[in-house]
Amino acid sequence: MDRPKSRPMVSRVIPVELFDLVVFGATGDLAQRKILPALLRRFVAGQVPEGSRLIGAARSEHSVAEYRAFAEAALAEHAAGVGTAEQRKAFIETLDYVTVDATGAQGWPELATKLVAGRVRAFYFSVAPRLFGALAERLHKYGMASGDARIVVEKPFGRDLATAEALNRDLAQHFAERQIYRIDHYLGKETVQNLLALRFANLMFEPIWNAAHIDHVQITVAETVGLEGRVAFYDDAGALRDMVQNHMLQLLALVAMEPPGSFNATAVRDEKVKVLRALREMGTGKTVTGQYRAGAIGGKAVPGYDEELGKASNTETFVAIKAHVDNWRWKGVPFYLRTGKRLPQRVTEIMVQFRCVPHSIFAGKGATMQPNRLVIGIQPEENISLSLMSKVPGLDREGIRLRQVPLDISMPDAFVGQHRRIAYERLLLDLIEGDQTLFVRRDEVEAQWHWIDAIRAGWRAEGLAPKPYTSGSWGPSAAIALAERDGVSWHE
Ligand code: NAP
Repeated sequence: MDRPKSRPMVSRVIPVELFDLVVFGATGDLAQRKILPALLRRFVAGQVPEGSRLIGAARSEHSVAEYRAFAEAALAEHAAGVGTAEQRKAFIETLDYVTVDATGAQGWPELATKLVAGRVRAFYFSVAPRLFGALAERLHKYGMASGDARIVVEKPFGRDLATAEALNRDLAQHFAERQIYRIDHYLGKETVQNLLALRFANLMFEPIWNAAHIDHVQITVAETVGLEGRVAFYDDAGALRDMVQNHMLQLLALVAMEPPGSFNATAVRDEKVKVLRALREMGTGKTVTGQYRAGAIGGKAVPGYDEELGKASNTETFVAIKAHVDNWRWKGVPFYLRTGKRLPQRVTEIMVQFRCVPHSIFAGKGATMQPNRLVIGIQPEENISLSLMSKVPGLDREGIRLRQVPLDISMPDAFVGQHRRIAYERLLLDLIEGDQTLFVRRDEVEAQWHWIDAIRAGWRAEGLAPKPYTSGSWGPSAAIALAERDGVSWHE
């Protein structure tokens, strides 16, 4: 029998109040690929009310007409097919541009005159983090840091605890914490939010979501790409800072947190920070680092990291970690984290492996059992799959055969008609509406760095060098051994 098709969902567009949004770094890569396309999509959905201002700001000199032409070209490349020609034209015509030097005086008085008092006012810092403090200071100096102004800061938020604390202090001089929106765009992803719905809107998971019933958790963020032009930034950062400190620890916190009292910024972030603070500080024996060498991905030859970089480097492009959350709920449950570049597949997923049933009544009939697994796919496909043991159909004359079968919730199937949004659309709307639930709070970011710094200190103390791995493989063999020592295989 065919599975019944879900009814198409029609999303209701909630009107948004008038706002002024200034995007610093409006000529940059992120603005072109994510921010402008996200704004266009919300404009087409009717959520940029007429009269709202979208003001681009950057250092280079452009007339407004030139910036509009620039934005039009960026949207042709990164948001083709969104909206009608009239809607796109109307969107482009709402764009304004001011030449502003974050570190100087140019452009600030002009920018200040463009803002309208008494409406939502937000400033998106899509510039290098070294400019965040200067922007905050000048917004204050030129009278734009009103009590209800909001600022959005991009990653990376510091490169260790000391720099993150210094940045927090710089921002706090001019803006209160309720005005500061730290982006971790993973939190804007639908399946990441769905993890909370899965855990807290269903009765069946929470009673078994603990050490008594969960054997271990795996979180994988695998990329097939190499340096992609981010040469200087990446070589200075490495995989631990670039991926684990932010995205992977946020995912871990959402998996491990206690049920918050409600879905609001304080309750959710209070619970996440408790998890981050309960992370056990680790010795180097619980981590593996790697750096890719030449190899092949999808049948195509690719160069090694140092060839792409043009010099030898000690930066890790792969890291695997066996982490623990030291609290009552997670006592003894390993959280295996793994991320890397030039891996065979682009995939981001969380896998929760439950324990085996305490006794198999089918053992005498020759059947083998597998533990249940819940796989939450975040990228490239968004889906949730629960593997269950099932009997293979037959008369069982030679014994009973059991097999794992997946119970799938495929997002595109279940919610037909809901277009897939880019994470930034959701986050920009939350910003305008003043909802910080999906943004990272000061204490979270500091707890994240505290844990990461201890790992790096361990690496330094032991003079650990990343192990080479062939591009197109799943990282150094030591990463496989890290899990296999515990009788665990990575989910692939
Ligand atoms: P980018 O391409 O280098 O763009 C930087 C932007 O900053 C440009 O618009 C540049 O304007 C402007 N700028 C530089 N110096 C300035 C100054 N003194 N005053 C005013 N504006 C100045 O950088 P990006 O890739 O868009 O990244 C922006 C931020 O997002 C960074 O914090 C980055 O870490 C973060 N981020 C980016 C990505 C991504 O995929 N690109 C992903 C995650 C996070 P001019 O060109 O006119 O000088």
